[in-house]
Amino acid sequence: MATEKLLVNDIVQLLHTAFPDLSRNNVLALAQAGRVRIVPPGVDIFREGDHGTSLFVLDQGEVYIIVHADDDQEILVDTLGPTGYFGEMAFLGDTSRMATIRTATECRLLEVDQTDFLAIAHTNPSLLRTLLRQIIGHIRRTDRAVINELNIKNDALQEAYADLEAQESLRSQVIVTLSHELRTPLTSIRGYLALINQGAMVGNALKVALESIARNVERLIGHTNDLLLLYEMYPKTTDWEYVNVSDVLIEAFHTARAIMEAEATAVTMDINRDLPEIYADRRSLVLAARALIENAFKFSPEKKPIGIHAFCENGGEIAIAIRDEGIGIPETEFDRIFDPFYRLEKEGATHLFPGLGVGLTIAKFVVDRHNGRITVSSKPGEGSLFTIILPCQAA
Ligand code: ADP
Repeated sequence: MATEKLLVNDIVQLLHTAFPDLSRNNVLALAQAGRVRIVPPGVDIFREGDHGTSLFVLDQGEVYIIVHADDDQEILVDTLGPTGYFGEMAFLGDTSRMATIRTATECRLLEVDQTDFLAIAHTNPSLLRTLLRQIIGHIRRTDRAVINELNIKNDALQEAYADLEAQESLRSQVIVTLSHELRTPLTSIRGYLALINQGAMVGNALKVALESIARNVERLIGHTNDLLLLYEMYPKTTDWEYVNVSDVLIEAFHTARAIMEAEATAVTMDINRDLPEIYADRRSLVLAARALIENAFKFSPEKKPIGIHAFCENGGEIAIAIRDEGIGIPETEFDRIFDPFYRLEKEGATHLFPGLGVGLTIAKFVVDRHNGRITVSSKPGEGSLFTIILPCQAA
């Protein structure tokens, strides 16, 4: 009996704190309409969309208020603790439940059924008025919390959609460019091979045909190298560590020279001995340097010498300069050459350089990630100088 008495006192105290505007008589009336429930953790007291007209006041424990997004994703809107109440919308308006309420811990609740409540409220109009006023204020606050939370999720979704759209457009661009870039040399090779097979190519014509086939094969090899670069651009794992710039350049140089079969080209390497180590993703930095060195080899058709130079700039920066004496680039194109798939070479040019136009895009992407920058200076017919500048504390 004593326990029951204590419980009734507890309920009165609870209702008094939850609804401070209610008079003592009203609180007592409400306490009579309620029944106490103990609910273990992880249980849905009710789910969004359920029917039900009870109001719940939390005495002990915590509950989560959860709403569902379109795709059945659960959004945690709020957590309620002792003296918090929920279920008021359906209680007042006979609507279905607007949210799911899940116990976070074991909870002691007072459940007030609408029918029991109305029976008391009929004889006590002030109870209804006061309770309505307070509950409506509560609903407004909860709505604001839900709207805020949904706005945050909405912004995140918008960003994800924009990302997806950009990826999708890049994907289509890659496929269209690739199919064109692969089909053109293959069609040419097939044409010449057919003519050779028919015996239609003899003497100088045969020489021209074989040269064209060799050039187109080179072009296909260039595309394959670019595809490998693209594949490596998004490594599954990035490994940030302190790296030695000279090791990076030597690896990039050897790979580029082997790929471009440029053993005959004279290369000057001048790497300052006192370069500090920098914090970097070594693999991607090798890719960036390799793309620039490959270009230096590629765009020097007469196998003119190239230079690789690394030194400390004033103000704690490291400069990696790659110089060639090749075909050069007009100043008007300096910005655009970093765009994906952008190439200066036009069909029918004197030299046919293989490539998809992604090497510089990748180099810039990597250098940006290291908080660095790439500069270019060049003159058509004289050569080009590409410089990667990295902060020493790149992170
Ligand atoms: P790719 O070399 O595969 O064509 P890049 O993105 O590396 O693609 O370069 C884009 C374009 O910039 C090249 O097609 C070329 O026209 C020009 N370019 C880049 N590097 C050089 C260079 N060292 N000398 C002359 N032109 C260059």
